Amino acid sequence: MVGDGVVLEGGCLCGAVRYRLTGPSLFTAQCCCKDCQKATGTGHTTIVGIHKDQLALQGTPATYTNIGESGGSVTRHFCGTCAGRLYTSGDLPGEFIMVQAGSLDEPGAITPQSVIYLKDAVRWDHFDPALPKYETMQPRPNHAR
Ligand SMILES: [Zn+2]
Ligand SMILES: [Zn+2]
Repeated sequence: MVGDGVVLEGGCLCGAVRYRLTGPSLFTAQCCCKDCQKATGTGHTTIVGIHKDQLALQGTPATYTNIGESGGSVTRHFCGTCAGRLYTSGDLPGEFIMVQAGSLDEPGAITPQSVIYLKDAVRWDHFDPALPKYETMQPRPNHAR
């Protein structure tokens, strides 16, 4: 979770793309879906959901778009030079983006609140037993639409 008005800075590995994220976050989750595994080369990715207006970018990320499991298009934004993952946007729902927590300068500033797409998780990937876990998407809280 990122508190209301809290500002976090981040960027890619080489520094060509930088950003400033302003809280509050809508959700923070560990996503175990197959696409996140392929896109990151790891067991899961940690994402911070925010409204797209809450991210101020410096530099221009490269993008890759495919069709996600929900049936809508999903666009991953990353550095064209170092390939560092930055954030994901999509059709569903278009105003929201998911920032890769590992791209924050201080990833420890956020706390994951749930594990999603547990159905795709690999057995060697371990999560905080206290976190709520969902087989696919987490049901959206009403205030986040
Ligand atoms: Zn870079
Ligand atoms: Zn995923």
